[in-house]
Amino acid sequence: MRVLFWIALIALVVFAVRSKLRAIAKRHDAQRDMSAKAQSSSREIEAMAQCAHCGMYFPASESVRADGLDYCSPGHVRLPPPKS
Ligand SMILES: [Zn+2]
Repeated sequence: MRVLFWIALIALVVFAVRSKLRAIAKRHDAQRDMSAKAQSSSREIEAMAQCAHCGMYFPASESVRADGLDYCSPGHVRLPPPKS
């Protein structure tokens, strides 16, 4: 009868450890979801910039700044804005 007691005790410990591990894994998943959501939303809010030369719109983080103007690429920085 003593063996049964130990088996029950071990089973209880294993069950407790398992549920604890599952809770930790769940928390990690939630954190990953939240950071992924934050990343995607910050990408949505990201400001758009317009190239001073060709007028193309693109994410501001990719812009090339020169003389207070945004350009879509380093190549357009040297070119003057088109005459309209
Ligand atoms: Zn351009």
